[in-house]
Amino acid sequence: MKTPFVTKDQLEAIAAKYPTPFHLYDERGIRANARRLNAAFAWNPGFKEYFAVKATPTPAILKILREEGCGVDCSSRTELMMAGRCGFRGPEIVFSSNDTTAEEYRLADRLGAVINLDDLTHVDFLEQVDGHIPETIFCRYNPGGVFTLGASKEGFQVMDTPGDAKYGMTRPQIGEAFQRLKAKGARTFGIHAFLASNTISNEYYAALAGILFRLAVELKEETGCHIGYIDLSGGIGIPYRPEQTANDIAVIGEGVREQYESILVPAGMGDVRLFTELGRFMLGPYGCLVTRAIHEKHIYKEYIGVDACAANLMRPAMYGAYHHITVMGKENAPCDHKYDVTGSLCENNDKFAVDRMLPRIDMGDLLVIHDTGAHGHSMGYNYNGKLRSAELLLREDGSVSLIRRAETPEDYFATAVWDS
Ligand SMILES: *Cc1c(COP(=O)(O)O)cnc(C)c1O
Repeated sequence: MKTPFVTKDQLEAIAAKYPTPFHLYDERGIRANARRLNAAFAWNPGFKEYFAVKATPTPAILKILREEGCGVDCSSRTELMMAGRCGFRGPEIVFSSNDTTAEEYRLADRLGAVINLDDLTHVDFLEQVDGHIPETIFCRYNPGGVFTLGASKEGFQVMDTPGDAKYGMTRPQIGEAFQRLKAKGARTFGIHAFLASNTISNEYYAALAGILFRLAVELKEETGCHIGYIDLSGGIGIPYRPEQTANDIAVIGEGVREQYESILVPAGMGDVRLFTELGRFMLGPYGCLVTRAIHEKHIYKEYIGVDACAANLMRPAMYGAYHHITVMGKENAPCDHKYDVTGSLCENNDKFAVDRMLPRIDMGDLLVIHDTGAHGHSMGYNYNGKLRSAELLLREDGSVSLIRRAETPEDYFATAVWDS
């Protein structure tokens, strides 16, 4: 069973001040989770989490994470600007982009961000654009093929297809990139890879670490480069479905430590610092989308219309993603009604749930759509003239702060050229 981090009474009080829909984040949960992550990797001196800004690019959230010792992982110009405006500098920023523009590399260089090159051709491109190669540089690796892990204890198999992914360099290319970067003045190298997304398995990170640690040993022998960093990137998942079991970050940290001690330490590489770039794991469960039932419709199926739509949360429409729904005040009522819960877009995929068994929903009921803290509000868009909602933060002391106002029609009209 999934339980919201707020009660119905709390939500009604919040909704009296900030009209639905809105995204609500849980400061207490965010901080406690960040501390668990840092504790799980405390054995590695220099460990640092770089929160993937794209998951939740909201200054108040980034500031909380910074207070917990996190940096930021950016992949675009505006994400870099956001990081800069929030006070992140130099090695607090990793720039893991792809198909990167000259302007983006210039800004990353100006901020002193750690640059992670996605392709061999970017070695020369970066040098041309920035006029130099930084002393510390990362390269992104793509081993190709299919990445699989056996079924986890819940029976979910992890599978992804790096061979179809646009990211990273092949094995020969990353060796060549290191040689060329070294010749151009790079001194300390990092290796990065992202092989599977939203993994519900304590084994993913250890398996990835094994691949990257062995590669690091090979690259050190082959190129003589000093490898100072390994960036395990994102991909640790969250249990969107109530029957899934959450990953145990302490077990994950230990799994990576075993690989570190059996591969890197014997190779004399016990000084390698580990980075992570988690997005979903850091924020996903600590945000929800709060919406109200405003219509019911009985045709060939039963529909509940809510005041949020896919413009507020795109994952269900885009990938058929499951997001659990709690009807507030009816947590213990039997789930004896089958509904499609829909938004108002003129797109038939604008459904937060399809054929979902829920308690009977009455007009005016508040619905909590769970696990929207990452890749939720940030994937929003303006199709059909829909406006993105506000973001609110439930503070540790129980108070609520507005951390992003809702868009207004004037925001929507602002980019139009009216008198052309
Ligand atoms: C999206 C992304 C992440 C975060 O992924 P999650 O699945 O949210 O953990 C990390 N690194 C890079 C380069 C990304 O593009």
